[in-house]
Amino acid sequence: MAYDDSNVFARILRGEIPCRKVYEDDFALAFHDIHPLAPVHVLVIPKGPYVSLDDLTASASPEFVGGFFQAIGTTARQLEVVENGYRIVANIGAHAHQEVPHFHVHIFAGRPLGPMLKRSD
Ligand code: AMP
Repeated sequence: MAYDDSNVFARILRGEIPCRKVYEDDFALAFHDIHPLAPVHVLVIPKGPYVSLDDLTASASPEFVGGFFQAIGTTARQLEVVENGYRIVANIGAHAHQEVPHFHVHIFAGRPLGPMLKRSD
């Protein structure tokens, strides 16, 4: 899928719409999700035109990929969720219900988070 730079996260990166920023460096921007699903629900997005993890790992340099993943860890430490634990989730593509076509990692924390996936059987 080609990157569409009119998506909402591209607009946040360009400063066209606001966000509640948590952390920022050369590789990533982290901000609170607008519809939180847990007491802590933060999104970490790469500062580049990547649709998905597939796109990021196929197109970006190892330095950028590493810097982005370090930013996720730094954001979690900054949120002080490491001691009690947290979950990261990245939805990629249709089966995962990815809504925004700019790669993002969700950080969920602040309460016991239950099983990883709901059983359908
Ligand atoms: P996903 O289903 O993984 O693509 O998740 C997209 C997430 O982006 C959802 O949890 C939305 O609540 C969140 N979201 C959409 N627009 C905004 C926004 N302007 N600021 C913060 N979070 C947003």
